[in-house]
Amino acid sequence: MLKIKAFAFNPFQENTYVLHDETKECVIIDPGCFDTSEKLELTDFIASNGLRPVKLLNTHCHIDHVLGNAYCKRNFGIELYAHKKDEPVLRAVKAYASNYGFAGYEESEIDHYIDEGDVVEFGSTSLDVLFVPGHAPGHVAFYHADTKQLMGGDVLFRQSIGRTDLPGGDHNTLIKSIHEKLFTLSDDVEVFPGHGETTTIGYEKVYNPFCGLKR
Ligand SMILES: [Zn+2]
Ligand SMILES: [Zn+2]
Repeated sequence: MLKIKAFAFNPFQENTYVLHDETKECVIIDPGCFDTSEKLELTDFIASNGLRPVKLLNTHCHIDHVLGNAYCKRNFGIELYAHKKDEPVLRAVKAYASNYGFAGYEESEIDHYIDEGDVVEFGSTSLDVLFVPGHAPGHVAFYHADTKQLMGGDVLFRQSIGRTDLPGGDHNTLIKSIHEKLFTLSDDVEVFPGHGETTTIGYEKVYNPFCGLKR
């Protein structure tokens, strides 16, 4: 059975997720931990639940989602999975990290490219990879079909959507990703976003002012 633990890390209040199942294997999605207390909070959760991290996943590579990449790779001995089109986004972080107050940011490399149609596995759990560009050029989401839960990153938020004014962002592409990849999932699919509270596909179809479907 899939369990999802959420942490809100760094001044962007970015949602870092640990997904684990009965095998005790887990994956870490978008580690935004930067200061020592945040790293300890993540590490303590993993240790106290007896979990074994096996993969590090990035939905996309904006700074708030990758601050803890290098720490997780080194500390847990795991490799990073992300989309090739977000590699330049990841490389760019080092140049602007200190401007955002993250002096001491450690760079990390993508070890495995993932794309639409790939399946990421850990323990007895399978996650389908959806390619959902627009907020970032190589943005992916991870869908657990068995429990209808979507790790959506910064594509779709409760009554909002990801910003598209950053390099590589494109508004029409984002709306197309939401309509063609997310709104084609069933209405009861639960969305775990990169910021803020969870929502459902059905709720956003009706109440989202940016991408909702007019009735
Ligand atoms: Zn982002
Ligand atoms: Zn974000």
